[in-house]
Amino acid sequence: MENPKTKRTVIVGGGIIGLSLAYELAKRKHAVVLLEQEGFGEKASWAGAGILPPTCRTTAIHPMECLEAISSELHEHWAEELKDLTGIDNGFRKCGGLYIARSAGEVAALIGMQFEWESRGIPVEELNFQEAHQRLAFLNSGENALVDEIVPTISKALWVPSESQFSNPAHIAALISACQSLGVMLHEHAGKCQVQVENGSVVGISVGEDKYIGDQYFFTAGPWTEKLVQPLGVALPMQPVRGQIALYKVDGLTSGIDLPVVNDGTRYLVPRVDGHVLAGATIEEVGFDCQTTASEVEELRNWAESLGGILGDATFVRSWAGLRPATYDGFPYLGELGHSGTAFVATGHFKGGLHLSTGTAVALADLAEGKQLTVDLRPFSPARVTCHQVSEIK
Ligand SMILES: Cc1cc2nc3c(=O)[nH]c(=O)nc-3n(C[C@H](O)[C@H](O)[C@H](O)COP(=O)(O)OP(=O)(O)OC[C@H]3O[C@@H](n4cnc5c(N)ncnc54)[C@H](O)[C@@H]3O)c2cc1C
Repeated sequence: MENPKTKRTVIVGGGIIGLSLAYELAKRKHAVVLLEQEGFGEKASWAGAGILPPTCRTTAIHPMECLEAISSELHEHWAEELKDLTGIDNGFRKCGGLYIARSAGEVAALIGMQFEWESRGIPVEELNFQEAHQRLAFLNSGENALVDEIVPTISKALWVPSESQFSNPAHIAALISACQSLGVMLHEHAGKCQVQVENGSVVGISVGEDKYIGDQYFFTAGPWTEKLVQPLGVALPMQPVRGQIALYKVDGLTSGIDLPVVNDGTRYLVPRVDGHVLAGATIEEVGFDCQTTASEVEELRNWAESLGGILGDATFVRSWAGLRPATYDGFPYLGELGHSGTAFVATGHFKGGLHLSTGTAVALADLAEGKQLTVDLRPFSPARVTCHQVSEIK
């Protein structure tokens, strides 16, 4: 017999946000259909670096800090839960983050970050040259000890032990597998979904000849969400922000130690335990153009290879680009669309969507079920947008 609590739920957009929501709602016994026009998680969610920044739940005051902190806690929990359910290890580890600043502007920015972390109770250690050298030593190759040259150029170095990472491609694979085993109807390469509206309410999702009707609808289509929800008469100004990454394979990258994320000004290296190292990322406002460009990749490679001797000797594997979904005020759109109680949106996480995916899924599921919320979603309400703000971003 059908569970009386079962709600037919249609989710449009199968990036990390849509997949996480499908997983959370399926665990709560909703009957979920997830529609994706291309392959699941193949856009920004695959392209991202998988850095999970430090947070602190006990001192979190602003709802954004709460969402971040809850997301961090959930990542630890989901990594284990997904491994038990699917056998897929998503590579979650508390690897720590090294932050170095070399120019005056970078020092000023890092002092600001240190102040914020300390005021939020997030552990931060100031490093001297020798300690910075030790943290960077894994980047030295035998004959090519570039780190010796880099360290004297460092004006300020910090160690943030709770910075974490996961392999977002592995996490996406685990979410897809978990959704399959929980009975989610997964439709990838479904085609471009369109919202059917009557009297201001969503009455179905059409894809070509097919129509999907639910008790409730979630729109999680990244930077394409603005266009997707237009038939509802809702304005959600969004901006795609391109990021490019270069990938290296390093033979003999020291294993057995927790290779840290290295943040050098606005650039970062993310070493994976399988010997791959990501060098990222650019921040470019070029519309929906998701191609890599020779000049930006070269710039990334020059920086990465100047930082660590091992990268000069490593194999450059490939580069890629993704489009981060940005909003006009830096906060995501999380909440109900209109007042029917049947249409919801979750998008606009910009540089933090991989991190915030877990907290977003739980918060939206709680909202749709009318449960008490652990995060105050009011600052993220899609209804906060005024006509003036729409014209500001466009
Ligand atoms: C280079 C780079 C580095 C990043 N690094 C990090 C990081 O280290 N940590 C972090 O937390 N975040 C990071 N991010 C940000 C993060 O990747 C994004 O915030 C997140 O992936 C957004 O997920 P999403 O599901 O909202 O969007 P997407 O991944 O874009 O998914 C949206 C999906 O909706 C589908 N879709 C769109 N329109 C329709 C339609 N009409 N019908 C059906 N389907 C549709 C699309 O095909 C797409 O698959 C990075 C991003 C980039 C580009």
